[in-house]
Amino acid sequence: MLIVYRYRVKSLTGLLSKQARAVNFVFNYCNDRQKDALRFGRRWLTGFDLNKLTTGSSKELGVHCGTVNAVCEQYAKSRSQKKRAFLRYRSHKKSLGWVPMKGRDVKETPCGLHFHGREFKVFKSRPLPAGAKIKDGTNFAQDARGNWFLNVCIEVPEGQVRAIRNGVGIDLGLKDFATLSNGEKIGNPRHLRRLEETLASAQRAGKKRLATNVHAKIVNSRRDFLHKLSTRMVREFDYIAVGDVSSARLARTTMAKSVLDASWSSLRQMLAYKAIAHGASYEEVNEAWSTQTCNACGVVAGPKGRAGLNERNWTCGCGAEQDRDVNAARNILLRGSGHGTPAEGIPIL
Ligand SMILES: [Zn+2]
Repeated sequence: MLIVYRYRVKSLTGLLSKQARAVNFVFNYCNDRQKDALRFGRRWLTGFDLNKLTTGSSKELGVHCGTVNAVCEQYAKSRSQKKRAFLRYRSHKKSLGWVPMKGRDVKETPCGLHFHGREFKVFKSRPLPAGAKIKDGTNFAQDARGNWFLNVCIEVPEGQVRAIRNGVGIDLGLKDFATLSNGEKIGNPRHLRRLEETLASAQRAGKKRLATNVHAKIVNSRRDFLHKLSTRMVREFDYIAVGDVSSARLARTTMAKSVLDASWSSLRQMLAYKAIAHGASYEEVNEAWSTQTCNACGVVAGPKGRAGLNERNWTCGCGAEQDRDVNAARNILLRGSGHGTPAEGIPIL
């Protein structure tokens, strides 16, 4: 399994910015050649073809030849992934800096990375796993604030799949960020809320610099929150089921829907890869009707539609008293493959 270690770069950032210009140049060259192929009805260029066309250009451009190759290959890959005949040009002003590398060209050093005859120093927040093999896809990338980061792509062995002794269903929602089937509620971090208010007022006042900085802070602390939550889940539970919620299906909210969607999908991604690394099992289940169905008797009797959104608690005909979100989380767990009937709880497989 491939995972990425991310470090802030603290030296030679000027050099990286210079190299990023060369990378854009190569990328745009690939785009031009692709447009030529379209114009003259020729065969579309593969990464291999583009590598041949750019052979020998690295010295003049002042970048490593592996970088040129990685750009060409990524161009061809992005083009087919995005299903486009050609891509948008990279501009130095609008695109964030990016310098890809080949895994074979880099070496880890105690305080950073050796690449292209130089040592790039980073803030080493954690060491790479001992004996880790650095793979292609490793790159330097800039964020919106202009800071450079090193993303090291490494191969790690998959954890042995644990026997399922306990499981959890997670209902992602608006009021609480997540509700677990064991009744625990995980709220949205309060400081995030405060930062969002600061961001909104900065945007209204047209303070661009402040808005960019606060936005970056929000992205960082949300990522931190999701990392901590997902790590805790895969450590505590052997089986994790999450509903396939998307904001499109939810009623009106005051929060930006794109933000919700982004958090939900990145939590699901983190759970998926951390589950593999820790040997837990992860599943995404269809959560249609999970709110309305009683998890004790299976009758559809719960609150319906928008009117029911304010109904936090309800009593089923069978006598079960339900908390709306906990009930949904239990249903999600029941629908996954790692469950038994409600009365049995989670069987040992
Ligand atoms: Zn019931």
